[in-house]
This record gives sequence, C-alpha cells and structure tokens, in this order.
Amino acid sequence: MAAVMAVILISGSCVKGKDNIKLKIHEPKSFTSGWKDVSAGREVGGTAVNIPGFSTKTFTNIVPQDVSDNVYICIWNSNFHITASVNGKVISEMGSGISRRFAEENGALWQIIPLDYAYRGQVLTLTVENRNRTRSFNLDKVYLGPYNDIQFELVKGSVFYFLETVFILLVGIVLLVYALLLRRYHLMEHFYSLFFLSLLAIDAGIWFFSNSAVLQYFISSPSIRYLLSYLSFYLLPVFLQFFYIETPGNRSLVLGSLVTAYMAWITVALILYRVNLLPLSISIITVHAFVMFSIFVIIILCLMHFHRTHDRYIFWTLAAFLILTTGALISLYGFYTRTGADNAHAFRISFVLFLLLLIVTNVKESMKEFNDMRTVLHYKQLAYMDPVTGGNTRLYFEEKIRKLPTTGYYFLHMNILQFKIINQVLGREKCDELLGAIYKAFEKSLRENEEICNLGNAALGLYLAAENEEHIHERCRILKTLVQQCVLEKKISMIVNTQFCITPALEQADAPNLNELQDHALMARLNPLAIYWQDANCYVYNRACGAQLIKDKNLEDRLDLAIRNHEIVTWLQPKIALADGSVCSAEALARWIDPEKGIISPGEFIPVFERNGMISKIDLCIFEEVCNMINQWISEGKTPPVISVNISKAAIRQDDFFNKYVRIAEKTGVPAEYLEFELTESTAYENYDLIRKILEEIHQIGAGCSMDDFGKSYSNISALATLQFNAVKMDKSFFDDGFPMDSRRYQLVSGTMQLLKSLNLEVVAEGIEKKEQVDSLKTLGCDSIQGFYFAKPMPQKQFELFVEKKKLRKI
Ligand code: C2E
Ligand code: MG
Ligand code: MG
Repeated sequence: MAAVMAVILISGSCVKGKDNIKLKIHEPKSFTSGWKDVSAGREVGGTAVNIPGFSTKTFTNIVPQDVSDNVYICIWNSNFHITASVNGKVISEMGSGISRRFAEENGALWQIIPLDYAYRGQVLTLTVENRNRTRSFNLDKVYLGPYNDIQFELVKGSVFYFLETVFILLVGIVLLVYALLLRRYHLMEHFYSLFFLSLLAIDAGIWFFSNSAVLQYFISSPSIRYLLSYLSFYLLPVFLQFFYIETPGNRSLVLGSLVTAYMAWITVALILYRVNLLPLSISIITVHAFVMFSIFVIIILCLMHFHRTHDRYIFWTLAAFLILTTGALISLYGFYTRTGADNAHAFRISFVLFLLLLIVTNVKESMKEFNDMRTVLHYKQLAYMDPVTGGNTRLYFEEKIRKLPTTGYYFLHMNILQFKIINQVLGREKCDELLGAIYKAFEKSLRENEEICNLGNAALGLYLAAENEEHIHERCRILKTLVQQCVLEKKISMIVNTQFCITPALEQADAPNLNELQDHALMARLNPLAIYWQDANCYVYNRACGAQLIKDKNLEDRLDLAIRNHEIVTWLQPKIALADGSVCSAEALARWIDPEKGIISPGEFIPVFERNGMISKIDLCIFEEVCNMINQWISEGKTPPVISVNISKAAIRQDDFFNKYVRIAEKTGVPAEYLEFELTESTAYENYDLIRKILEEIHQIGAGCSMDDFGKSYSNISALATLQFNAVKMDKSFFDDGFPMDSRRYQLVSGTMQLLKSLNLEVVAEGIEKKEQVDSLKTLGCDSIQGFYFAKPMPQKQFELFVEKKKLRKI
C-alpha cells in the first residue's frame, strides 16, 4: 500500500510538470551554440570544453532578445565552481546560501538562474573554475526557457533515475513489511537483519531521489538537496553495518569484514576533509578505494570459505559485493575519464543489484524458517484451541499462567458433577454446547491477566486474581450462577450441579505449575483439613492440607527404604467361626513399624499410597510375607489357616497386576488353597469387567476371594450375584449405631444376611466388639466374625499362640 502510494505520489508530481505541456525552451540551439571561449577568442562548438585541473575558463554568449520575466538559464554543473554574470554584474554564484567550501566542492546538478528581461541582448559570462575534481564543461547543457518547462525537461531526462528510485523504494517498503511480519512471528534474528536491509534499500532510494533532477523539480535549493544526498549516502554503510551485526549465521563474517572496512574508510575520508586535507568529493573515491580493497577480501574469504564449506549464502553475498565492486570500478574509471557526466551511475546500478542479491539470499533463508514457523504455529494453534469449547486448551493455559505471578492468584477447578450421566441423557452434542456456553460465560467474567481453559472431562480451569479468600468465594458464587444461567439458556431439563476446588497459587514455589495446582485443588476435595464453602460447593486447599501433603510426601520418600528394612510387617487378625468358636482364617494387615515413631497405622499410610499408586508395593510385600508364613507353618508340620490379603483399588488397573501375585506364589511354592484375596465392594463395582477377569484368575490358581467392606459405600446386589466371590465381609458400619438393640438396624442386618446367604455366599461380620453382637449374629446365621471382641490384629508369634488356644478350624 505504502509502495503504491509512493508510486502515485512521485508519478503524480511528474504529471504536474505537464501542466505547461509544451516545451518552450527559447532558442535552445542558437543559445547553446553561441558560446565564446574568452581566452581563445573563438566560438566553442561540440559537446564539451576541456578545463584541466586547477584552472579557470570564461565563456560568453548574448542573452536572446525575447527574454521575458519567466525565463531562466539552466546550466549543468558537474563539480565546477561556476559564476554567472551579465555585463560584469554577478547574477549567480554556485552554492551561494550554503557553506562556500562545501558548495564549491560539491557543485550542483542543474543550476537554474532567473534572467531579468533587462538582460536582453546583453553579454552573459560564465566563469567555470575547476578545483581539480572533474574534466570538462558541457555547453550543450545550458538551456534557456520558462521555469516550468525547464523543470519538466529535467524530469524527463531523469526518468531512469526516477525508475531506479521507485524500484528501490518499493523493494525497501515491501521488505520492511515482510520484516515486520517476521517480527510478528517472533523470528527476531531474521527480522533485524531484514529490517536493516529494508532501511538500506529505502535509504538508497532516498539517495537516488535526492541525486536526481526529480527532486530539483520540487526543491530548487541546492543546500537541501546536498544535505539529503550526502546524508543518505553516508547512511548506507551505517545500515549495512547494522545489517551485518544482526545477520544470522556465518555470512556475518564476510559482511562484517567488508562493511567494517567500508565504514573505516569513509570515517578516515571524513576526518581528512574536516582537517582540510581532502576535498569532500574525494570521499566518493574512497568508496571506490574501499571497493578495490573489498575485491581482495572477497577473494581471500571466498577461498577460505569454499575450502571449508559450500555455503550458498556466502557465495551470493560475495557475488553481491563483487557486483558492487565492478560497478564502483566502472564509476571510478568514469570519474577520471568521462566528461561532465554523472560518474556514479554505474555504482548506483551495481548498488541496486548488490542490494537485490543480498535481499534475495536473506529473504530466501528467512522464508524457509518462516514457513517452518508457520507450520509449527499451525500445529500449535491446533494444540492451543480446544475443539469442544472453542477456547483455550490446557497447553495454552499452562504457557499463559507460567508468565503470571503467583501472589494474589488462585487456581480454580470447576467440574460438572455426574457429567457422564448428563452426557448419556442429553447426548454428546448438547453437552458440548452446554460446556461451550459455560466456558464463554466464564471467559466473559474474567478480568485482565486472568486465564481460562478446558481441562477435559467436563472440567474447566481458571487462574483468577483475588485479594483474599472472601473475594474468591464471591467469584465462585458468581460462576455458579453463570452455570445455572447457561443451563436455562440452553433449555437443559436436568439438574446440573457443579463442584469447585480452589488452591491459592502461592503454594507453588516459583512459577505456577498447572499439574501441581490441579493436584492441590483436587486434593482439597479429599482432604479433611480443607475449607468447604457450601453455598458454592467449593473446597479450598489451605496450608493445613499442605502440611498433610508434606507428611504424605515424606511417607512416599521413605517407603522403599522401609520395605527394604522390613519396617512394613504383617499382622494377622483372626476370623472366628461362629459354629464352634475356632479360628477359621485370618486377615493379613499391614503395619509400619517406624524405628522412631513406633507403629504407624494403615489408616495413615494406606490412603497416601493408594493415591500415588505405590500401594501395590505394600500389597505384594505383605502377600510374599503371607506366603512365607504359610510355608513356614507347613514346614513346621502345622496346618496353616487361610490367610486373606487386601488388594487395593489403585493396583488392579496395572497391566499385569495379577501376574505379579502368581509369580510370587510360584516362587514361594505356597499351596493356593490357603490364600484368599479381599477386594472392596467399591473396587468391584467400579471395574466390573476387570474384576470378573481377576476373579477368574484367582479361582484358576485355586485361591479364594471375598468382598471386603460390603455396605460401606453403595451396594449392588445384582452385580454381587454375577461376580464369583466366595465370601462377603459385612462392613463394621452395619453393626455400629445400635445393632442388635435397634430393631431397624437389626432388620437391616438380618435382611442383608438372608440375601447374601441366598446367593450361597459365606458371610463374615467385620468390626464386632460386643458380646450381644456376636450372639445376634450367631442367631442370624453369620458364618464368622472378625472383630476386637475376639482379637485385634497381632504379630505372627502372638497369632500362633492365639490359634493354639482357640484351636484352628480345618478347611
Ligand atoms: P479392612 O481390610 O477392612 O481391614 C479391617 C480393618 O478393620 C482393620 O483395620 C482392622 O484392624 C479393623 N477392625 C477389625 N475389627 C475391628 C473392630 O472390632 N473394631 C474396630 N474399630 N476396627 C476393627 P486396619 O488394620 O487399621 O486396616 C484398615 C484398612 O487398611 C483395611 O481395612 C484395609 O482396607 C487397609 N489395609 C490394611 N493393610 C493393608 C494391606 O496390606 N494392603 C491394602 N491394600 N490395604 C490394607
Ligand atoms: Mg480387608
Ligand atoms: Mg473391611
């Protein structure tokens, strides 16, 4: 757009000249040809008059008769000091109005001097003084005519310059836009190098423009043109230097050497000019000198680099400099030999080619990375956009919150309860729609520097800023209301309940870590020490939970060592047969004998290891010990009781879970009929198919299996009928709260007992502490009892004594 604007602007300015469309330069031929060389005393013909170094020549001509007010004399001046006078009266001295020395040294392109009509027929004298900078003065390029017509003619003569200007400016602008695009994609390395390359191109465009007669059309003041021309020319190596500094890869070595030499040379030239040792125009020669120097550098670097690598970029960079060098050499040749023409032309063209080559090689390289980046971004976008809600994914959220502080922030986990059921009833599409609507409503309620994402499984994560817990409590209430509004809007007929779990982000060490935040928040739900806000159904993780966590972590860290040090031991709690009071079996229960703290009860460590999945280590350790105990009893000639071991819910999902038991049984050679496994009812119902398979495997090796804690959570009698358990252990909760005195309790126990019996299941009553409970259970037909009434869990030796006393019921 900017490029198009520039073209319209520049070409529009040219069209302006065509207002006076007819060229009316008065008597150009006769005026151009009527010049007399004063010293030679004869008329000068041809194109150029030779003015050798440090000499002056004077030319005269007669101002034509039809000179009117609007007529100007226009002289092409290539670095001469020219004074124009009419009948001895100076009417113009080149460069007046600017520093004399500067003006004299630089000359002008076209010098346009107004001619008063009073000068008609009078003698016009031009004094041309050479300060040893050029060769010849061209009298063919002295025009006479109306101002606009002269200007227009000059512009026409500058078409090539103009095209060069437009072209290089366009390249520069397009490159600038491309560089900015790279910055948007964070390709900063390429951005900087291409940014300075674009500035280099734009600056070159300005230089061409200021050097052309096009600018003269607008600004006749030579001082402004000089300034613009020299400033832009000297800025070229500066941008080149920046480009080199920012250039990625080993090309910088090549560019660096060349540009540094260029800079150094120009600096020396400027200093020499400042101390009056060198005319300024010689600085143009310094460019050529630099270029000659660069030829050597190029050859040396070429040899060095191509010897080691076949880097195409180095090759094209060197080729670009070689072109510049060639152009500069031609210009240098022109400087000394040509007559009055613009001697920097070849340098300018080669500069364009040089720039183009640098641009093409750099753009090509950056494009490769740019495309890679775009592909990465595309995939990243896919990874960042959640398809269900159209919002942020967990990954995006994680990256975003990592940049936010922890102080004053809370992580909030919101999930829709029973979402699976809602999903089944309403259909997946409707549910996704609801979740999307909730997401949007939540998102709208966010403030600056707050984030949200879909965590999956009908849960959203929010990172919210709040000064204290009361504020976050208020936000929860609002979010809960928003959910209900969405439910109404989406015309959902079911009740949709939400649960919030919160943790202050401050609990995190440095930057927020989503996994940890989520763990903490969700742990609040299970942690008895967490705060609970009923109105929002929200659990809040706090420092007390944190202390608990540390304790848990401590246990986790110590487990392996404890197993190795035999701190985890097996205690046995007998199960007493109600028929004859003998010991019919026993349950193996883990105890952690800590050398410092003493006995740690399973209630303290089992849940910790169930949460982190390490429980199977304990289970297997206990199982192996049980196998060894049974073998020991057999080897001592004793009949062992059936020993049951607990299997944790967390362990059964592991792939070859039961194989580990089979391997231990095989390794120890224990007879499987003395083994029983206890699986809790929640384990059984939640993993129905898996449990069926495990039960089959247990029966296959010849061991038994009982359902533990029956009645503790929700019981499913029909599932119990299909699952192959041998026994059911009625949970202690059946017998607490008034059994057998309370008739309703009694009815419940009796009914359950009958039901279980009808399914041919052996019934064990757990947690029996009182005699009346034992008596009632005996009447109700319960098979055995495990409870403190008879015995608490005890170490092996004590258990052996207990069995001796009570007698063992043979299987
Ligand atoms: P559980 O498998 O239901 O074991 C029975 C629990 O009830 C044992 O608690 C036992 O001491 C307790 N108990 C038995 N009779 C009475 C009674 O009359 N009154 C009271 N108040 N309690 C009674 P313990 O040993 O503290 O174990 C608690 C739970 O820890 C076990 O419940 C079991 O789920 C788990 N556990 C224990 N050892 C292991 C193990 O090696 N592996 C696994 N996975 N879990 C284990
Ligand atoms: Mg048990
Ligand atoms: Mg139990």
